[in-house]
Amino acid sequence: MTQTELNKYKAMLETKQAELANGLRNREDIAIEKTPDALDEVQLAGERELAIRNLDRESSLLRNVRGALARIADGSYGVCLHCEEDIKAKRLDAVPWTKYCIRCQEAADRHEFEGENGESIDELLAA
Ligand SMILES: [Zn+2]
Repeated sequence: MTQTELNKYKAMLETKQAELANGLRNREDIAIEKTPDALDEVQLAGERELAIRNLDRESSLLRNVRGALARIADGSYGVCLHCEEDIKAKRLDAVPWTKYCIRCQEAADRHEFEGENGESIDELLAA
């Protein structure tokens, strides 16, 4: 991969990282609200659950973005972490934080191997 390409992906990743970190810091929509109305409470519980699910998704995305930036720094970016083949530029353009080539991603989605490591949101924000 050329330096120009690396710089392009780095810029994309840094933008995404800032966007996600901001989103994760604005977490007041998960705060528990008290309401005397039972119907409102049900609705609020639903909204809270949705907010938590979004947070989960965003924090794992942030983890992937950070990982990709680290791989740019150490020179291993653009190589599939599972099979060590080069990841196609088309895939990196669409998902610059991807860890896997399309074949391995599909296998990971089917849980054929374990890729994730668990870090809490607070650890992520502190990093
Ligand atoms: Zn692969």
